[in-house]
Order: sequence, then C-alpha cells, then structure tokens
Amino acid sequence: MENMNNWLIEHQQLLTAQIQGENLPHALLISGITGAGKLSLANWLVQVLLCRHPDNNELGILIPCQQCKFCKLYRSKSFPDHLLIDNEDKTIGVDDIRQANYFLEKTAQLGQAKTIMIAGADKMTIAAANALLKTLEEPSKGSVIILLTPDVDLLLPTIISRCRLIAIRPPAGDALLSELGQNTRNAFVNLSHLPELSDNEVNAQFEKFQQLFLGFITKQKIAQQQNRAELIQQITESPYAIRWLEKVTVTLMRTENSWHSVESNDSDFIKCNNISRDTIWSIYQLILNTNKQLKTLSQVNRQFSLEKLLVDIGNVCLKGEG
Ligand SMILES: [Zn+2]
Repeated sequence: MENMNNWLIEHQQLLTAQIQGENLPHALLISGITGAGKLSLANWLVQVLLCRHPDNNELGILIPCQQCKFCKLYRSKSFPDHLLIDNEDKTIGVDDIRQANYFLEKTAQLGQAKTIMIAGADKMTIAAANALLKTLEEPSKGSVIILLTPDVDLLLPTIISRCRLIAIRPPAGDALLSELGQNTRNAFVNLSHLPELSDNEVNAQFEKFQQLFLGFITKQKIAQQQNRAELIQQITESPYAIRWLEKVTVTLMRTENSWHSVESNDSDFIKCNNISRDTIWSIYQLILNTNKQLKTLSQVNRQFSLEKLLVDIGNVCLKGEG
C-alpha cells in the first residue's frame, strides 16, 4: 500500500466505520485539489472493499491484507469487478457512462461488490452526467461508485446531490510543511489552485504578472531596471502579489524537480532555463520571509519591504548567473 497522507486519516476512519456498520453510501464524490490524495483514498477504499481479509490497524482504519487473490488481482489491475474510467484530459462521453451502466448491470464475476471509479468526473459531458444520474439513483445491489473531481462546483448539482461528498482539505502553509517533513514532493499542493484565478480577468492579470516576474529574474542584466518599475507597481497594487510570487516560484521549483504526481494535470508547468534550482530556492525563501514581515508592517513600510524584496531577488539572480 502506498503511503497515505496524514490528512486522509479522518476520511479513512469515517469510511471504515461506515463499511463496518454496513452503511457505506453507494455513491461517493471525493473532491480535493491536485495532490490532495483523491486517488490514494479511492484506491484504498476499493481495495478494502474487495479484500477478503482486511484488518483494522492501530488507528482503527481497515487495511487490505495484500495477500488474498482479490488484493493480488487488484494490484495487477486485472480485478474483473472493478471499472476505472479515466480519460485524463479528454471529456468523458455518454458511451463511457453506458459502458459503466452495463458493467453494473452484469453479475459480479467474483460474487463480491462491484466498484466503479470515475477520475475527473468534472470531465463528463452533460449527456454523460445525465446517463449516470439514473444509476446513482438506483444503484445495483452491492455496487459502489466513486467520483473524483478537483472542484465540486464543476459538477452538475443533480450529480452532487446524489453522492456523499468527501472533501479533502490538505493543511496549508507551515502546517503542511511540518506534516510532510522531508517529503517536499507534495509540499506545495495548496498553491496549485488559487481561488481568485478562476476569474478570467484576474487570471489574465496573473498571466501578465508571471511573464513580468519571469522576465525580471531571467534577464537581470538587460531589462532589470525597466522591468523592475513595472513589477514593483504591480506588486504594491495587487492584493494577491505575494501569493502570486509564491505560486510562480513554486511552479518553477516543481518544474525543475519534475514533481509529477499520478493524478496531477500539471498544465501550469513553466520552464525557466537559465535559473538554477538553488537560485529558485533562495528566491522562494526571500518571498516567504517578506510575507512573514508584511503581516506586521504599516502600509508605508509595506511598500519599502516589497521594493527591498525585488532588490534582493535581483541580487540572488545576479549571483546565480555567476
Ligand atoms: Zn486481501
């Protein structure tokens, strides 16, 4: 079993209680940002449901035995009574859902529960979602349908209302870092989705901001002065400036380290060739420190502090260029 993030424990405990109380909902909707662990939780649940000898661990969480025929079949992705629908970035069409409905109507080959997992359920077309509605209303006996989505609001209300919602909320900021310890691979998941960026206009501002900032850190010697004036204006005027700086820097780090998680669709990777990993890390530390200071500063000092941040970042970049 892969390592599960600590913030999934409460969900595992609740689901365990429901399984053992024989009142597990037949339709579950797991939501959470990229890296939150939706797929880990869903995989754990499916495996616990099909395992012949699951056992409670010290946290009261059911753990699959990994030894029985069912566990082995699932691990080798050949368990006949489980269906995974995952079209990655493409839409999930009505034919996919018809296939799922047919799968549920058939008798389970191994006589156990049948499970369906629909990754990226928000990618369902309207027709597909409607085809799924009836199944969600009248599920075949012993079947469990698990939908995964980064954002519940992307689904039709009629779908949401027929599922039990499990909203995974990873801790943010320092709490997240301390929880993850050295495992920084997923340390920045909370920055991969900023709510304000779902507004098209704000998102366009962010794109511009990102270009400006990338220009600033990559072309120190040539364009720094001109760029710096424009950037400082944006940074002091935008209410999101610091977290945007953080996001761009984190995206650079993730790109640099190729932190691809299984379920991520990291379309927001950006490439920045002539900046070293150490330089990016230094910039990130500067941003974090300034962010801490800003919380206690007056408006005048805030402006000064942000200007100083850009000077410091500029110096780090120059040093990095050697
Ligand atoms: Zn087993």
